[in-house]
Amino acid sequence: MTEARIARVALPGPLDELFDYLPGAMGQPEPGTRVLVPFGRSRRVGILVEYAAECGCDPSRLKSVERALDPRPLFAPADLTLIRWAARYYRHPLGDALFTALPARLRESGPLLASGVAGIRLTAAGAALTPAELARAPRQQALLARLLESPEGLAQRNLEEELGGITSALRALRAKGLVESCRLEPGAVASADSSAVLAAPELNPEQAAALAAVSEALGGFRPFLLDGITGSGKTEVYIRAIAEVVAAGGQALVMVPEIGLTPQLRERFRTRLPGPLAVLHSALAAGERERAWHQAASGEAPVVLGTRSAVFVPLPRLALIVVDEEHDPSLKQQEGFRYSARDLAVRRAQLVGCPVVLGTATPALETLHNVIAGRYHRLALPRRAGGARPPTINLLDIRNQPLRAGLSPVLRERMHAALATGGQVLLLLNRRGYAPVLTCHSCGWVGVCPDCDARMTLHLGERRLWCHHCGRIESVPRDCPQCGGPDLRMLGRGTERLEEGLTELFPGVRIARIDRDSTRRKGELTRLLAAVHRGEVQILLGTQMLAKGHDFPGVTLAGVIDLDHALYASDFRAPERTAQLIVQVAGRAGRAERAGEVVLQTRHPEHPLLQSLLREGYGGFARAALAEREAAQLPPFTYLALLRAEAPEQEAALAFLAAARAHAEPLCSSEVELLGPVPAPLSRRAGRHRAQLLVQCAQRPALQHFLAHWTPTLRALRRIKGVRWSLDVDPQEMV
Ligand code: ADP
Ligand code: ZN
Ligand code: ZN
Repeated sequence: MTEARIARVALPGPLDELFDYLPGAMGQPEPGTRVLVPFGRSRRVGILVEYAAECGCDPSRLKSVERALDPRPLFAPADLTLIRWAARYYRHPLGDALFTALPARLRESGPLLASGVAGIRLTAAGAALTPAELARAPRQQALLARLLESPEGLAQRNLEEELGGITSALRALRAKGLVESCRLEPGAVASADSSAVLAAPELNPEQAAALAAVSEALGGFRPFLLDGITGSGKTEVYIRAIAEVVAAGGQALVMVPEIGLTPQLRERFRTRLPGPLAVLHSALAAGERERAWHQAASGEAPVVLGTRSAVFVPLPRLALIVVDEEHDPSLKQQEGFRYSARDLAVRRAQLVGCPVVLGTATPALETLHNVIAGRYHRLALPRRAGGARPPTINLLDIRNQPLRAGLSPVLRERMHAALATGGQVLLLLNRRGYAPVLTCHSCGWVGVCPDCDARMTLHLGERRLWCHHCGRIESVPRDCPQCGGPDLRMLGRGTERLEEGLTELFPGVRIARIDRDSTRRKGELTRLLAAVHRGEVQILLGTQMLAKGHDFPGVTLAGVIDLDHALYASDFRAPERTAQLIVQVAGRAGRAERAGEVVLQTRHPEHPLLQSLLREGYGGFARAALAEREAAQLPPFTYLALLRAEAPEQEAALAFLAAARAHAEPLCSSEVELLGPVPAPLSRRAGRHRAQLLVQCAQRPALQHFLAHWTPTLRALRRIKGVRWSLDVDPQEMV
């Protein structure tokens, strides 16, 4: 190998390959560094991925890198390996994968924030002073005295912890030229003391066993399923394990499905764990996000709490990964780079050599399958921590029952009983809006979305017809648009209508609705949750948002209004999702000293899924569901990839998929099966027709092998006008 190495650079966008450059004058920065390169007639920011001894072409025709943009790489070797692995596994362009893992400003040529932690130190003038000279300004004097003890500087954060409010004293000293800003090595920053961790509750034996298993595994790869019912103290176990990791100088990454929904969790982490908590999610402003990313990547933040994209955040001392609510579908990205953050968390732990804890009350069938196969180690927390009793679950056959506001007489009676004893009631109806259908009683007209293969939902509060698939909004017609008749009727019931019905049935009772509509305004969810906690709300109703991670200790009765809709959905995962939802809702009831009760309204009480869930709990349901999946040869017993196409015309989408299939056939080994092309279940959305081709394979490596050969042919296919396509490996949604 000669001195002149070839720099291989990833560029953003849909470009699958790496681009070769001569190193030019940039020297030999480490892979993971951003570089500025000439590209066509312009220049682009790329990421140096690797060096190669030679390129496939004549090196004299290569252009040179202009310069390196970073003094040190943004991605460590292990980070790069993870992202390269993910891009290959999910068949996504590497450049795009790398750039989506960066804060927005760093995707351009913006400079990296200075490394280390913001600190304060004395200037030469300050160091020459004695504290007595500042006797008339005691706060400045205290600050000066403290800084004289640490000439290398102190983190502003540590100073505040020691001395209290120092802002104005600091400003004064700065104005006199006595102190200046500096950057400190993260290791030089004292952690907050761990008394909060010590003041935590004593673990019960199961928690202690789970914690011991995780701590013993520290330092090596080991995947765990922490299978614990809601309120069993999983979070407590995470916190203890993380505290241990942090005390040993490591970093922990905690991923949750949606941070906006769990302000309580964030607060618990903040108050119980030392050091700054880096919080990363998509709702942050760009600057906040970059700051948090930097705190994580520089090692300043020992704990990182984030949503799925946090799986890619560089963490130099990563020693533990936790994925909370690992069953939640929102851990899978559904557009662009379609990765599963849970699966990548496991992969990352393997690359780094650390334990990964997947926690949930309702494990995904995939995860249980991994436990059964011996790949994951199961830790069980079968009891509620602090002695709260689990709820009883009852099926309520509502056939031939007179319903009012969708509630059967028995459920209404239970509600009155719960309210009479001072309990709160939670009602789940997984459909927002007032009514899912608006129809004409004279001619049968139905309000459908002109752009989708779907009906428009009536939102009475906003006086709108709203398409939940494409977001189209129309005003509510006064008369039938088809026959002009006045008799328009609303069919079905959403949360808005349920709220209205409850107001009539329970006059004087305080009711709160929690769904995406009622919580759209910033801070509204927090406000509603706080009102529930203060006991100002007696009936709480809403969509599945209610089942996500909140604690409702005052709830003694939970009701699921309409189960049947979900039982008979077309997606093969619908039963799994329904069972998870039921168990998650049940987990909200009776968490404190009072036992709770759960009532499920159904017209199919004999349904085998409901029966197994009732008799044997989630574990029994999961066993039955896994047996069904195995018989039907569905995941996790087979592996899927879904090729989706959409176009203004159905024919174009199908033609693209037919061509894709033609290219696939010669590549298929006997294990790979192609199903389709067929129109998608939602065959039209936002004015575009949608179709899909499913690839199924009994072996993951065989599927990967097939995709590796097939995807390049898809990119090379003759373009059909208007067709957009995407490939989804391990799809979670089949619509
Ligand atoms: P999960 O994450 O499984 O829902 P949490 O860790 O949030 O459970 O615990 C539920 C409640 O029980 C919390 O209020 C928590 O403070 C409390 N708790 C957890 N572990 C214990 C324990 N060992 N003793 C007493 N209370 C506990
Ligand atoms: Zn009509
Ligand atoms: Zn629509």
